[in-house]
Amino acid sequence: MAILVLGGAGYIGSHTVYELVDAGRDVVIVDNLQTGFKAAVHPKARFYQVDIRDRKALDEVFEKESIDGVIHFAASSQVGESMSDPLKYYDNNMYGTMVLLQSMVAHNVGKIVFSSTAATYGEPERVPILESDRTCPTNCYGETKLSMEKMMAWVSKAHGLRFVALRYFNACGAHTSGKIGEAHSPETHLIPLILQVPNGQRAKISIFGDDYATKDGTCIRDYIHVTDLAQAHILALDYLMKGGENNVFNLGNGVGFTVKEVIDCARRVTGHPIPAETCPRRAGDPAQLIASSVKAKEVLGWKPRFDDLDTIMSTAWGWHKSHPHGFEEV
Ligand code: UDP
Repeated sequence: MAILVLGGAGYIGSHTVYELVDAGRDVVIVDNLQTGFKAAVHPKARFYQVDIRDRKALDEVFEKESIDGVIHFAASSQVGESMSDPLKYYDNNMYGTMVLLQSMVAHNVGKIVFSSTAATYGEPERVPILESDRTCPTNCYGETKLSMEKMMAWVSKAHGLRFVALRYFNACGAHTSGKIGEAHSPETHLIPLILQVPNGQRAKISIFGDDYATKDGTCIRDYIHVTDLAQAHILALDYLMKGGENNVFNLGNGVGFTVKEVIDCARRVTGHPIPAETCPRRAGDPAQLIASSVKAKEVLGWKPRFDDLDTIMSTAWGWHKSHPHGFEEV
C-alpha cells in the first residue's frame, strides 16, 4: 500500500516525501509542477504530473496505485496574491480539494492529512494560539484553507472519511542533506529574502513596518523547521491509520521572533552585515502569531528537533548558498 502525496514536488511536500521514504514507506506523488520542481521529486517515489482539478487523471492514479492514505499539500499559498486574485485561490484550493475528495470517496480512500495554516486565525485574540481559538481569516488564502477544513468535516459526516488538518506557522529551513530546500518564484518569505543579501542577489532587506505593538516594533512570528513539519504529517497519518478521529493541530515552536531578531540571526549565521531598511507595513499582517503546539505533542507525540533559530537558519543558509537559483539551472 502506498501513500499519495499531492504537491510532493513543493517545499513542504518534498521534505515530507524525503521523511516518508526514509521511514520505508511506498510513496506516490501527484504535482502539476506549477510551483513545484521535478528536481525536488524523490527518486524513489512514483511521480505523476497531474493537476488535482483534473478528475479523470486523478481517478487514473487512484485506479493504478493502491493508495492507503493521502497527504495533501497541493494549493496556492501566497497571502498577497490571494488578495489580488482571490478566484485563483477558490479554484486551486477549494475546487481542487473538492475534486480530490470526490475521487477519494469514489475510490474508498478514507484518510487524509492536509496543510492548513495559522492564517485561519486572522488577528489572534491571544498568544500562544490554541486550536480552539476564534478563526477569522484576514486574507483569502486563510479563508480558503479554513473552508477546506470545513469541507472535509462535512464530507466526513456524509462518507466517513477522516482527516487531520495541520495549521502551520512559519515554515522555514531546509533538508540537512542540502538536496532540497525552499524555492518560490516570486519569493515573498522573510528568511529566503534575507539570505539573498549575503548571496549577492539583493542589496538590502525591507522590514515591513516597525510601529507594531511588539518589543522592537516589528512583527513576531513562530518559525518552524520544514523537517519538523514533515515529521508531523507522518505522525498524523499514523494517528488516522490507528483509528484516530478528525482533528486539527497547530505546528510551531511556541517561541516568537521579531523581524529584526530574524535579521540579526541571519547576520550571525552568515557573517554578513545584511543592511536593512524600514518600509511601510504589509497589508494583512497580524502583529504576532505564536502557536501553542501542546496538542500535537500530547496527541501525536510530535517532538520538534529544530527548536533553535540559529540552527534553522544554518540549514536554510546551507541550501541557499549552494543553490542560489533554487532548483533552476542557470
Ligand atoms: N517580512 C518583512 N520583509 C520581507 C518579507 C517579510 O519584514 O521582505 C515580514 C512580514 O511582514 C512578516 C514576517 O516578515 O511580519 C514573516 O513574513 P513571511 O512572508 O515570511 O511569512 P507570513 O508570516 O506572512 O506567513
